[in-house]
Amino acid sequence: VFENVAAAPADVIFALTADYKADTFADKVNLGIGAYRTEEGKPWVLPVVRKANQILVDDGTLDHEYLPILGLDTFRKAAINLILGADSAAIADGRAGSAQCISGTGAVYAGAYFLSKHYPNKNVACYISKPTWANHRAIFEGVGIPVHEYPYWNPATKGLDLDGMLQTMQDAPNGSIFLLHPCAHNPTGVDPTPEQWEKIADAMKAKGHFAFFDTAYQGFASGSLDKDAYSVRYFAKRGFEMFIAQSFSKNFGLYSERAGNLTIVAKSPEVKNRIESQIAKAQRANISNPPAYGARIVSLVLNDGTLYKEWEDNLTTMSDRIKLMRQELVDELTRLGTPGTWNHITDQIGMFSFTGLNVTQSKALKEKYHIYLTENGRISMAGLNTKNVKYVAKAVHEVVTS
Ligand code: PMP
Repeated sequence: VFENVAAAPADVIFALTADYKADTFADKVNLGIGAYRTEEGKPWVLPVVRKANQILVDDGTLDHEYLPILGLDTFRKAAINLILGADSAAIADGRAGSAQCISGTGAVYAGAYFLSKHYPNKNVACYISKPTWANHRAIFEGVGIPVHEYPYWNPATKGLDLDGMLQTMQDAPNGSIFLLHPCAHNPTGVDPTPEQWEKIADAMKAKGHFAFFDTAYQGFASGSLDKDAYSVRYFAKRGFEMFIAQSFSKNFGLYSERAGNLTIVAKSPEVKNRIESQIAKAQRANISNPPAYGARIVSLVLNDGTLYKEWEDNLTTMSDRIKLMRQELVDELTRLGTPGTWNHITDQIGMFSFTGLNVTQSKALKEKYHIYLTENGRISMAGLNTKNVKYVAKAVHEVVTS
């Protein structure tokens, strides 16, 4: 039956990790996958997650019963509060709803699937940033929504191409879908300023575009949960209806537990209820109901003042170490006199830096120096530590000057 099935290409990031694992070189460095690593290069179970886990074990509530189709109520409410802010008018009006999903990926999927079935304009396209996280295209095309790109990264300035972005918003048919990264843009690490968000919101409003935010790094980018939610809260204040896919993989270190949420901001409580009911219907046929463990941990922490404070401290630990690595890499490249400017590495924010290294240079880092990064020159800053940063800087210097 399946003789004519063609092989699908392997996922680039997961293939890179497999190559890294198979490499026997002692000083190999993994700058590919977006997962936090300690100064020792190890995964980090957040101390607050350990504590929450112990509380769940001790209080005897860790059963294995099904969650409701839309997930754990206390988790959903807390996730909505976290992104929209406790003082949100949408929450007070009862216009904010949600579905717990299979982490951030599942939340983007649930939102995209809903739009594919219920968006009033059947010919709608989704505009994604150029570049973006590769799954955005895969998910939207997978549900049958055509994908176009809007300019985002300006290679000349190694910063945001705001004019290109606004022009595309102006030129796109009325009521298009725009996929936006609220903070710590993946892969560039370049975010709009509040003034630029105002212009983006103006352009979106003028054309009646639909905002679909995807946030995988709240609290991880700046260390401030409120600051990293600025764009979403600003759009909510401007009266946008929107979807926000939230991931708790990075900010809780719960990568494998698949804790995510799709927040919905609708025109009225009635519309919000109807959207939720359609997402529940789709979710029932897809995953039936979401996994409980990660959501229980997140819910416990978000709903307890003391644990919440401890979580903020853990977030600061991660974001401060990443900022330090940005500085050390730039200092080292400056000390070596590596040609080019490198200040964009410290200007960028979040898990990644878009170094500006080209495909040949990125490949050479992997093949000659056992430093693993994607071919677009993106490096995961968390893969650096005080022991390997000099080695990485020297290798970058050599590939740039060879
Ligand atoms: N969106 C973006 C932009 C991401 O970078 C990621 C993680 N790489 C995700 C969503 C979702 O990740 P997860 O499914 O692990 O929550």
